[in-house]
Amino acid sequence: MKEIVLVKYGEMALKGLNKKTFEDMLTKNIKRRLKSLGSFVCTSAQSTLYIDPQSDDIDLADVVDRVGKIFGIAALCRACVCEKDFADISEKAAEYCGDILSTSKTFKVTAKRSDKAFPMKSPQICAELGGILLERFPNLSVDVNDPEVTVTVEIRDTNAYVHAENIKGAGGLPVGSSGKAMLLLSGGIDSPVAGYMMAKRGVHIAAIHYVSPPYTSDRAQLKVEQLCQKLTDWCGGIAFYCVPFTELQEAIKDHCPEEFFTIIMRRLMMEIAQRIAAKDNCLALITGESVGQVASQTMSAIACTDAVCRIPVFRPCVGMDKTEIIEIARKIDTFETSTLPYEDCCTVFTPRHPKVRPVLSDVEKAQNSFDFEPLIQRAVEGTTMKTFNYEA
Ligand code: ATP
Ligand code: MG
Repeated sequence: MKEIVLVKYGEMALKGLNKKTFEDMLTKNIKRRLKSLGSFVCTSAQSTLYIDPQSDDIDLADVVDRVGKIFGIAALCRACVCEKDFADISEKAAEYCGDILSTSKTFKVTAKRSDKAFPMKSPQICAELGGILLERFPNLSVDVNDPEVTVTVEIRDTNAYVHAENIKGAGGLPVGSSGKAMLLLSGGIDSPVAGYMMAKRGVHIAAIHYVSPPYTSDRAQLKVEQLCQKLTDWCGGIAFYCVPFTELQEAIKDHCPEEFFTIIMRRLMMEIAQRIAAKDNCLALITGESVGQVASQTMSAIACTDAVCRIPVFRPCVGMDKTEIIEIARKIDTFETSTLPYEDCCTVFTPRHPKVRPVLSDVEKAQNSFDFEPLIQRAVEGTTMKTFNYEA
């Protein structure tokens, strides 16, 4: 029996004239993601994408696993390809769905007939196939309201398809359809989640990380690189920028009042991030901040940080509780890596009594007491880049 994967569009199905652009981007993302599994033909019709494996030794479970993490997809399923002939459809339905039908108690049949030339109408397909399956599987009874198994028959352009599973897709919009943004990626729990959430809205992610050797270790950086690698499952390829931040942090410590250490550090991070963002065509910055979580994330502190930003800053975790953020971190498999106990540059020079409600003019005055510009430029020049991609 020939098997394929059917993919149903998410929100992009509602797009008007530029739907084709979204469709092309989704197809490109799927092809790229499946490349290492073998050769596939992808075609689309009526808000559905057909992924047709070109050899028998491709494991469709792997395909479903990977495609399930691609944004822009509402639902997906493995399906059996049939002739547009009811005898073939009913025979294959009994065989293809046999395992699940023989171990379930209730079922129903649904039919979608997008080819109106097919001689049977949908209710007739449901009734007749339902009757055949009842006869073949005496353990079954029909439950149209809450069945354990729904056998779906789709009559489309060239073929009919039968399937009994419907897997929830990752939702959102195809990565790349909304442009690119720069994620400030720490080794913590929140920022990987923030990256995932913006990728879900179609944003292609680049990542930037600040290191302060010898205060922070190579292992701390490696941990962030691991997070970056994990994010590629959802976000696709990621350019990872690593910024040498030691000189700046030492300068803050030597020249600024302690209560403003963190806020000035965050302003310098934003300044560097947007300069690198401009070089890499990123239209916005992304952080994992959440209002009230720590002193540097009060509204007053965020206002002081934002004052240096010339491009939008997206904070998708802003209204979330830590427990909600952790739930997503577990789902995207970054939680365990994030909780490995390596130091971050933020924690190195943490003031004992940070200002909870900093006033912008005070922060500016404190920061202007030293000329950071040459150090900022050196940090930007010293920044290294490497790219991460799906594991082959
Ligand atoms: P996270 O869990 O994402 O580390 P957090 O709750 O620990 O967040 P902070 O340490 O105050 O919060 O950092 C707030 C945000 O600033 C992070 O979500 C991240 O976007 C950015 N950030 C912090 N440290 C770094 C770093 N070393 N490199 C890059 N970005 C950072
Ligand atoms: Mg952190």
